[in-house]
Amino acid sequence: MVKKLQQLNLAEVYPAAYADFNLNACGDPDCGNFGVAPDFTIPVFKGKNASNRRQAAAASIAALTTSFGAYTMSSDDRYPRISEALEYEGDPVGWDDGRTMECGHQRGNGVCDISFTVLSNEHFREEFDRLRFAGGCLEGPVCGACGTRYLERPDEFIFNGTHGKLAAGGNRRRAKPSGFRIIHRPCKGKPGARVSVSLDHQAQKEQGDNVRILRCIVNGDSITTMRRILADPDTGMQIGVSRLYSRIFWLQKTLLAFERAKLREWKEAVDTSGRYSHMRIAHDDITISVNWESRLDRRLTPLQFSVSADIRSGYVFRIDANFDPNVDPVEFVEAHYLDPAGQPTNIRQHYTQKSGITFTAPKMHFQRPSGRLDEAMLFASAEGRWRVFSERVKKAYEKSISAGLALPPEVQDKLADSEVKRAQLDLIRQGYFGFQDTDRDFRGSFNGSVVKPTYTKAAHLACLRTMLPKGRITLVGEQESTMVRIVPHVFRDMIEDDLFEWLVISFDKEVSSPKTKARMAQFRKELEDYKTQVRAAVGDEITDREVLEHFCTDRMTTAVMEDRNGVPYPYSIANFRSRQFPQIWIRSPAQYFGETQKVVGFPVIRKEYRDPLKKLAFDQEIWDQDLRAALARRALRATVQPVSTFMASMRQRTSPSKRAGGKSARTGPAYINGAVFNPAVLMAFLDIFKIYYNWFEPRQYKGPGASAGSEEPVEAGVSAIRIPGTDETIEVPKMATAAPVMLTPAMRLGADPEKPNRRARKHPDPRRVLYRPWLYHSTPLWRKFENR
Ligand SMILES: [Zn+2]
Ligand SMILES: [Zn+2]
Repeated sequence: MVKKLQQLNLAEVYPAAYADFNLNACGDPDCGNFGVAPDFTIPVFKGKNASNRRQAAAASIAALTTSFGAYTMSSDDRYPRISEALEYEGDPVGWDDGRTMECGHQRGNGVCDISFTVLSNEHFREEFDRLRFAGGCLEGPVCGACGTRYLERPDEFIFNGTHGKLAAGGNRRRAKPSGFRIIHRPCKGKPGARVSVSLDHQAQKEQGDNVRILRCIVNGDSITTMRRILADPDTGMQIGVSRLYSRIFWLQKTLLAFERAKLREWKEAVDTSGRYSHMRIAHDDITISVNWESRLDRRLTPLQFSVSADIRSGYVFRIDANFDPNVDPVEFVEAHYLDPAGQPTNIRQHYTQKSGITFTAPKMHFQRPSGRLDEAMLFASAEGRWRVFSERVKKAYEKSISAGLALPPEVQDKLADSEVKRAQLDLIRQGYFGFQDTDRDFRGSFNGSVVKPTYTKAAHLACLRTMLPKGRITLVGEQESTMVRIVPHVFRDMIEDDLFEWLVISFDKEVSSPKTKARMAQFRKELEDYKTQVRAAVGDEITDREVLEHFCTDRMTTAVMEDRNGVPYPYSIANFRSRQFPQIWIRSPAQYFGETQKVVGFPVIRKEYRDPLKKLAFDQEIWDQDLRAALARRALRATVQPVSTFMASMRQRTSPSKRAGGKSARTGPAYINGAVFNPAVLMAFLDIFKIYYNWFEPRQYKGPGASAGSEEPVEAGVSAIRIPGTDETIEVPKMATAAPVMLTPAMRLGADPEKPNRRARKHPDPRRVLYRPWLYHSTPLWRKFENR
């Protein structure tokens, strides 16, 4: 018989919130509790006559009537865990690993009742910092005494001389210092306050190789090909894999720093220009599998990448994986769950109740230090490493063992240690926390751990926000359940200022390409007919855009699904049926950009439209013409096309993200030969590809509301065709009447501004970009390195 643990209340478990960020509050923009943390002074009434007692108390306690900050809590886990180790040995208990909160704000005659799972704000902040600094790449020097980052407060650091010497020679005319020492002034004299800084690429002998690696990465070459290309031309000696990896990581860091410096300049320019900024962002996910490292065990691990791109220019702002390569599973688990004596620690939470009763319970996921990560996998991987260690040692001594010889005592000690560690990890993992087994027990020799997608998603969007200029943001995505939990919180202040909209689309992805084309052609024809009608009625004053908007406003319908008996049910997935969002989804008549049969939902839309929209049931038609027009306008621009274009290009062009066996993963996963084994390398590939795509590769781009024309007229002219068997030619008129305008996304975004003379624009040369200290851009160190 399994006992239940002590009941907990909300005040006891409510996670700490930051002044400017809190995930644990009601997510309905129209609820009085939107972003309001629980008020624990409001008494909770439970049991018999609860509502009567509540009413009686309401007379004296004002907060009860306003119900400002009123929440309740319930258990959330569908899979209760069983603990049967340590204090529960021989006396197992069952408990729920997580909690749900319900909003108790009064609304008319009822309560808001929107419910959500409790998350940790600290885990969010940790993930936010990981993405913000690209896993440490962009952190820069840090004061060893107090932890202040140089890049955050360059004014607090002073120079303290140079160190090292770069020899004259090559294209260097005289010897130069290889680095600089800086001192954090407030900490002067303390150990660690003096830091020396040098540039990473100084140690690289063959700098030309870096550009070749870059070209290989963006042209679909595998690691194997790169090693062949970089081999010594005389001896054929190939470069080692780990050296190649470190070059790739250097490229990633340099390019990320370059991009950050450029985007910051762009943001500042837009912010100070006083122009009104409205960014439309397309957001989507892509799953890319990584080969695990064992040749014997050909299973893939899917990583989820969140991608956000600007709809107008096609600029891809971020691509973030739910994988933290800086976590060493063994080190992490031992540092957080074992004390110096090797005993389990930090696994239970202590509670003291008002009555004075104290007790402990296993920490829940939002309380555990590892709660940000996929814990079942993390623990399995930590234990697996010890197992692999033992096996490798034993294999090395195979001969001695089969000859019946004793192993050297220090080896025996190490093997015994390994057994102890494994037993301890297993005790915590399965005996105490009750994590289920995963099928990845033996794998994970590289560092890292998968992060829970909700935290990565929240951090991705929060980082994106910091990159965009002040102004309005429209986020367009697909129906993802994690978004529901976090979008209202990440953009809360903007929603309150009515500066944020979130549209969700779905379209026909299964359709064949000829059918898509047929639909688009049909749509164009209908639109042309409509145009003729309208122009006949109101004259030529009306623009094409206005005609298109009228067409869509006219023909837009409410989208519903029907079950077998013809009973309608909401179009959206369950997560979007929450009362915090309008329930009406509309079917757009526009068939273009390869996204046909499009249905659009409006989870967050400007208040003037949200209020009437929320009043309608999911299957009602919208009669209000202004509202119809507003929704039609939005539906026309709602697309994830810039992300799909980027992903298609990436799939085609980078070797590790190719899907084995055709277009989809439906045929089942297959081992990808020559693909990377290490997720950190895959992430570097994608970052590098993203920046190359944004800055160095001009393309034609047609998007909804694309900034400039994507084509320009070609002067009428003639070209010559040779008559076969003769030297004579005949002149014929030139074929094309329009030439594509080739620009990089950065140019269209305005981050790589046009030169005043309007000559044919050139994209930057990667060679000129790679060897500058972008990380220190616009700080005193930048100038030192540039002018030394
Ligand atoms: Zn609420
Ligand atoms: Zn300091």
